[in-house]
Amino acid sequence: MAEELDLPWCFEEEHLAWQKTVAEFCTRVVAPGVVRRDLAGQLDPDLIREVGNLGAFGLRVPEVYGGSGADLRSMCIAAEEFSVLDSSLAVTVHVQAISAVLFHHLADEDLRAEFLPGMATGETFCAFGLTEPTGGSDAGNIGTRAVRNGSDWIINGAKQFITNSGTPFSKYVILFAAHEREGGSAGGRAPISAFLVPLDAPGVSVGPKYPKMGWRSSDTHPLYFDDVRIPANHLLGQEGRGYREALAFLTWARIPIAAMAAGLARGCLEATLEFATSRDSFNRPLTSHQAVAFGIADLSAMTDTCRLLTYDAAWKFDTGRPIEREAAVSKLMASELANQVAYKASHLHGGYGFMDDSHVARHYRDARILTIGEGTSEVQRMLIARGLGLPV
Ligand SMILES: Cc1cc2nc3c(=O)[nH]c(=O)nc-3n(C[C@H](O)[C@H](O)[C@H](O)COP(=O)(O)OP(=O)(O)OC[C@H]3O[C@@H](n4cnc5c(N)ncnc54)[C@H](O)[C@@H]3O)c2cc1C
Repeated sequence: MAEELDLPWCFEEEHLAWQKTVAEFCTRVVAPGVVRRDLAGQLDPDLIREVGNLGAFGLRVPEVYGGSGADLRSMCIAAEEFSVLDSSLAVTVHVQAISAVLFHHLADEDLRAEFLPGMATGETFCAFGLTEPTGGSDAGNIGTRAVRNGSDWIINGAKQFITNSGTPFSKYVILFAAHEREGGSAGGRAPISAFLVPLDAPGVSVGPKYPKMGWRSSDTHPLYFDDVRIPANHLLGQEGRGYREALAFLTWARIPIAAMAAGLARGCLEATLEFATSRDSFNRPLTSHQAVAFGIADLSAMTDTCRLLTYDAAWKFDTGRPIEREAAVSKLMASELANQVAYKASHLHGGYGFMDDSHVARHYRDARILTIGEGTSEVQRMLIARGLGLPV
């Protein structure tokens, strides 16, 4: 492990050991096929099984359910290391890992015992189904409906852009659906519950995968629900409160996205250093031109900023401090900076940076989603502004 990746105020021995393990895994297992997977737009099931053996899917799931009972810093370390090379893999792991932790938080003991061990190892993927075709930022405006029918729930509606919903491992989705208000829709928004819905239940259809500019070898589909009947005990959390419970619980989930931005920035820095130190222009090494060296210095400084914000937020979470502001600030700044880093790194590669099979071109494409997923930059600014008492 390079010494500069150590953050002595925040990393314990166990974090450094985990960082080394994941970094070695990435060199040995992730790196060889990353360009092929990206260009083909295909998730590799063998890679997912290897990641399962590594233990990355159940990092924050208690050991009794097959997880590692690790902390958020460990989750961020994995997200960062994967993203140095392969942001598609990082998001695949992220969605499964947060779904498993959320499921543990919302489900009762019987459901946990039945479903959580498979989720913790990644043998069964559970997608997270919140966003709808009408909009994701205003996530509480949900058109999908759940109606009680005897001892069952009947679900109708559609979800959009759902990660991990069509892989060979995809078996469930944590679905958010609204209830009709008694007496019609007057009096504010309908209450929203969370449900565990099997993807092979009659009436569920998984639409064709989206062609995407980035995160190409991650798996993203629309989902449709047509009179889907699920048993009453698949309600997660309290009836009518599952959405609020999930949102309040998942504040920390923005921090691994900041870690992904930090990893992507590091990947750009490392690729640019390698490229620029092995190339000449005007009979001099490329790096001896001050403009190039300063450009790389900027990449390095921005990468450090992403990492510091990420691990400050994760450390505060792990030590029981409030993180509402830190989660939004780290996600906002790291994702915006990663886009600047990717732009500059691609520029410093000249024409090679425009070639689809170069590492920086992949990072450039993958960076775009970081300011959009898990709450756009505007949503993060809204949260930060509200924390300052501003009326937005
Ligand atoms: C590859 C991919 C994977 C995804 N995976 C999942 C998943 O697994 N599960 C899931 O539930 N969702 C998922 N999403 C959805 C993602 O969370 C949403 O795309 C995101 O929240 C933005 O929602 P939207 O696309 O509907 O944009 P909109 O909400 O329509 O926003 C459009 C633009 O308007 C801006 N905007 C909206 N409201 C305001 C406002 N009040 N003030 C200022 N600006 C505003 C936004 O910031 C944005 O720039 C995924 C998306 C992608 C692209």
